[in-house]
Amino acid sequence: MIKLTGVGKTYADGTVAVRELDLDVATGEMVVLVGPSGCGKSTTLKMINRLIEPTAGRIEIDGRDVTSSDPVELRRGIGYVIQQIGLFPHQRIIENAMAVPLLLGESKRTARERAAELLTMVGLDPEQHGHRFPHQLSGGQRQRVGVARALAADPPVLLMDEPFGAVDPIVRVRLQEEFRRLQRDLGKTVVMVTHDIDEAVLMGDRVAVFAEGGRLAQYGTPAELLARP
Ligand code: ADP
Ligand code: ADP
Repeated sequence: MIKLTGVGKTYADGTVAVRELDLDVATGEMVVLVGPSGCGKSTTLKMINRLIEPTAGRIEIDGRDVTSSDPVELRRGIGYVIQQIGLFPHQRIIENAMAVPLLLGESKRTARERAAELLTMVGLDPEQHGHRFPHQLSGGQRQRVGVARALAADPPVLLMDEPFGAVDPIVRVRLQEEFRRLQRDLGKTVVMVTHDIDEAVLMGDRVAVFAEGGRLAQYGTPAELLARP
């Protein structure tokens, strides 16, 4: 589904963020990129949806070369969830969740129904939470809205950068488990970045361990990684 071959990224100032990266992600698989801060995880994620251009190698999604795809069309097929999700602060939660369906040309009524469905999917009550504003939700609830919004266009691929990083530890475990169930149910292909090895092992079908200098140190199932010293 997603295939990176010999991918490298050297920023304009000479920083080598990623080098010689080979990575393949199967359809419906959840792959977690883990490693210390600054080792190129976010850069890798952003190259997949072309927020950043690689300086070496090739990235394919479904056999199509990402660097020669139209970025707007490309991102229609890729949901993106980041730690500080930007909800519209002056719009209610239901309106935030309606934004993408409206952009896709749905009628207001259909968009509202779709938004309610999406909020329910991520464990929010459209009646109870839909009429609140973002600042009236907890951090964990806001991240749920972020996931709902990323799923709105029903993209086959989701990219997530520390999606649960700012959420307190107890809520976080619930979100991890619930997200994993949702991901399996919907059959989404996911690449997620974290610096938390426990989260990586809990959530990943496979885990890619990045090392200092943007190199891939290990890539395998949690069982394979735990079996090694
Ligand atoms: P991670 O997600 O693993 O924390 P990043 O991909 O954010 O790592 O960063 C990898 C390296 O690239 C770091 O050394 C970081 O400082 C550097 N870097 C990130 N963005 C830029 C940029 N726009 N220009 C120059 N260097 C950058
Ligand atoms: P968390 O530990 O997940 O960050 P919070 O302590 O922020 O949780 O919030 C706990 C509950 O209070 C949540 O159900 C949230 O919706 C509600 N809440 C938080 N802030 C407000 C607010 N300003 N107005 C109404 N409800 C709020």
